[in-house]
Amino acid sequence: MKSEKRKAARRLEALRSLLERQGLDALLVTIPENRSYISGFTGEGMLLITHDDACLSTDGRYATQARLEAPAWRVLPSKTLSSGPLAEVCREQHLARIGFEKNDVTIQQFEKFQDEFSGCGLRPVMGLVESLRLIKDVEEIALIQEAAVVAGAAFGYVLGLIYPGQTEREIASQIDYFLRSRGDGPPAFETIVAAGERGAMPHGRATPSEIRIGQLIVMDFGASYHGYMSDITRTVCVGHSDARQRYIYEVVLEAQLTGLNAVRPGVTASQVDEAARRVITEAGYGDYFTHSLGHGVGLNIHEAPRLAPGQEITLKAGIVVTVEPGIYIPGWGGVRIEDTVLVTETGCEVLTPVTKDFLVI
Ligand code: ZN
Ligand code: ZN
Repeated sequence: MKSEKRKAARRLEALRSLLERQGLDALLVTIPENRSYISGFTGEGMLLITHDDACLSTDGRYATQARLEAPAWRVLPSKTLSSGPLAEVCREQHLARIGFEKNDVTIQQFEKFQDEFSGCGLRPVMGLVESLRLIKDVEEIALIQEAAVVAGAAFGYVLGLIYPGQTEREIASQIDYFLRSRGDGPPAFETIVAAGERGAMPHGRATPSEIRIGQLIVMDFGASYHGYMSDITRTVCVGHSDARQRYIYEVVLEAQLTGLNAVRPGVTASQVDEAARRVITEAGYGDYFTHSLGHGVGLNIHEAPRLAPGQEITLKAGIVVTVEPGIYIPGWGGVRIEDTVLVTETGCEVLTPVTKDFLVI
């Protein structure tokens, strides 16, 4: 409990120095993951952080939970979820520069804010709490690691259950069953199972179509654990494989290993993307690698940084990203191999250490 309190105090302090640098008197936090990161509160509500106050507005359903999960916060319950009580605090304390998370606010919500915060100066901001979430602390890394272990085990579990005639949807359900029963929440995102030609769609949804001998199956899924996510993709072949499937798999695997090898503190996100992409381009499949190499993982399944061309953010120890090159050929199918990895002081640690051998099952 003591360490929970220390963690909450540390995060609040870091956010306050960001407010200082941005010239803000306060920040209104409405993004759910930012709210739970800063306060520990996992119910519905909004936060107001000032230089010497920390308030949490929620409704009657969550008041008790809020006091338990966020003991250091001033809980302001109201009948319905509203930013009204927080606006009141701003007026009482004569705060003039109030940041709000512009990427989370609809026009309707903005009009409501303008009404409630009339007389206070609202400033649109973006990415403040997210910039703190970029570097994971040891507790967060442990939770992502646990989510990754569950996802890795789900792959081992489903491998033994795949047979020709089964549908993509049935395979996805079995993966989900494992993720739900071994993780502690829903799957991190809608599980992707795409066989044969459908594998050419990087985000193909599992359908009722049946698996046939000779098909590649792309399976992309993740577990959640105490709010933290993991993300893994493996591609396997059913019954027997042909030379083209084996060759393309080898190219993607080499690109993935090259990408992993490039992940270390001090390199930019675009350099990692470029290293892996070059392998696929030199093999002549550059036009068929149609997405970025990877993305950050944490409380969100997709968060900063993006490993993509033009992303000049420098990697640092404590960042968690995916490395997931793929080749997708319309009318033929696809191969993707993805791991979730932690940037360490010297390179990276693969958190999803599941075989990447070409498996014919
Ligand atoms: Zn994935
Ligand atoms: Zn991913």
